[in-house]
Amino acid sequence: MSWTNIFRTVFVLLMAGHVLVMYSLARTQQHGFGFDLNTAILSILFALLMLLPLAPAVALSDLPEVYSRTVRRRRFKNGLCPACRYPVVPSGGDICQECGTRMIQPDPYRFTWSMARRFAFFALIAWIVGSIASEGWLIADEAAFRKEAEAEALKGRDSLLRDRRWPGNGYLVWDVDQGYFAAQGSPFSIQYFSPPAPTNAESE
Ligand SMILES: [Zn+2]
Repeated sequence: MSWTNIFRTVFVLLMAGHVLVMYSLARTQQHGFGFDLNTAILSILFALLMLLPLAPAVALSDLPEVYSRTVRRRRFKNGLCPACRYPVVPSGGDICQECGTRMIQPDPYRFTWSMARRFAFFALIAWIVGSIASEGWLIADEAAFRKEAEAEALKGRDSLLRDRRWPGNGYLVWDVDQGYFAAQGSPFSIQYFSPPAPTNAESE
C-alpha cells in the first residue's frame, strides 16, 4: 500500500467517524428506542448535511500528491533528477543516467474535476459506512440494554435506567409497566419520552 493510499484510507475513516457521531446525535435526539425507518432517514440526511462543511477538505485528500509534485519540481529546478535526485549529466540527454526517468519538468499541481469527483466518492463511502455503523452500534446498545433489563427483572426489579453508550446521547429506560423507551436530561431531572413519564413516580 502506497503512502497516498494510506493517507486516503485514514481520510475516509476520519470522515466516516464524523458521520457516525453526527448520525448518532440525530438518531438519539429523536428519543426512540430501537430501529425506526423515519428516524433513520432523518439521521442519514442530517449526517449528509454535516458532511457539507467538510467540502473544503477536498484539497486534503490530495495532499500527498501536492507534496510529491512540489518536491519533484524543486529537484528539477536544482538540476537533479526529479525521481532519484541524481545530478543531471550535461551530455546525458533527456534520460536520467541513474534511474532512467525522463528529464522533463514535472507539471505543477492543479485543481481538477477528477479530484472533486474523487472527494465526492470518498464522502459517499464515508456517509454510507458511517451511517450503517452508527445505526448498528445504537441497535447493539439497545439489545444489550434489553438483556440487562431482563436480568434485572429476574432479580425481581421493576425498572432500569442507564446512559446510552457513546456517542449516543441520553438514557435507555425499562419499566415493567411501560416497556422500553428513551429519556433525556441530567441524572437529576430526566425527561421521559414515548411512553409519557410515569405519573406516580415521585409521590411514592
Ligand atoms: Zn533518476
